[in-house]
Amino acid sequence: MTMDRVYNFAAGPSTMPEAALETAAREMLNYKGSGMSVMEMSHRSKAYQDIFDQTEAILRELMHIPESYSVLFLQGGATGQFAAIPMNLLSEGGSADYIDTGNFAHGAMVEAKKYGNIRCAASSREENYIRIPNLEPSIFDPRADYVYITTNNTIFGTRYAELPETGSVPLVADMSSNILSEVFDINRFGVAYAGAQKNVGPAGLTIVIVRKDLLGRAQSICPKVLDWTVMTDKGSMLNTPPTYAIYMAGLCMQWLKEQGGVAGIEKVNIEKARLLYDVLDESSFYRAPVEKKYRSRMNVTFTTPSPELDAAFVKAASSEGLVSLKGHRLVGGIRASIYNAMPVEGVKKLAEFMKKFEVENK
Ligand SMILES: *Cc1c(COP(=O)(O)O)cnc(C)c1O
Repeated sequence: MTMDRVYNFAAGPSTMPEAALETAAREMLNYKGSGMSVMEMSHRSKAYQDIFDQTEAILRELMHIPESYSVLFLQGGATGQFAAIPMNLLSEGGSADYIDTGNFAHGAMVEAKKYGNIRCAASSREENYIRIPNLEPSIFDPRADYVYITTNNTIFGTRYAELPETGSVPLVADMSSNILSEVFDINRFGVAYAGAQKNVGPAGLTIVIVRKDLLGRAQSICPKVLDWTVMTDKGSMLNTPPTYAIYMAGLCMQWLKEQGGVAGIEKVNIEKARLLYDVLDESSFYRAPVEKKYRSRMNVTFTTPSPELDAAFVKAASSEGLVSLKGHRLVGGIRASIYNAMPVEGVKKLAEFMKKFEVENK
């Protein structure tokens, strides 16, 4: 690691591969002899279209996305898609099933209710979202237009250990905090989408992967910038796309490819998560609230015996270059976000710090 950089455990925007940042720095003033920064380029230029096409190609390669899916690079964040999803998929008089596994899942459901009939098919809200609820196939409405899930719950630190069986009803997944972190069979999904700022690249880019047979269904009120069919026809360039964020995401994905792609990084991610959960499991000081089966590999949540000690932990860690460990304001405690770009070294250093802090404060 470069000397003056910290280990940044922020939940998003979050740490990015140094190699990608260095390439961006090198290319900042003059991108490959063009005499200008990527930020200054017309999105209609050949040079930029090449960057865009390469970024799409590498994402397709990393996730094995076939031509039967459209890949869109949009704006508006995951939150924009909370509205786009029902507007693109809900038929007149139709309904959708939502699985409420956290604040973002809940927010998506509440937003969707503006646009049609939404049913909460299962929820772990009453249990403080410490697990993914039981998802027997029988709980789903076979006539629903789609089933909505959140594959990793960033705030609470849970992850779907397996995907629900929804038969012929398309599965729509918010993958904002674990896209590209583990191997997913994209063919299991009707739609997979993610805000880029957790595990892909910088903020400002939203990736939407949609099976093409689901296009052409948008409600007439759907704004054009959120209409997947329009955006597919326009190659994500109905209007100006987030050009620089797309370029940066491409550099980050190039780095990921060099780490052995998604399958390669998945092994590292499992190991990184194990390092922290092992400390938590061996400790009588820390408490990890999430049910083991559903523990996130991306966001590790825990508490010390008191809110005062939580705050002391975050402060002391920060002075050792382990920063942004404060839990989300809704749940408090401590959260270590260990996305793809967090090196094993950083996680080892945090694990050592946790042990030391326990000994000193028990
Ligand atoms: C961060 C996050 C969101 C919100 O993303 P924005 O891009 O800020 O709208 C939604 N869902 C999940 C799972 C997230 O982690």
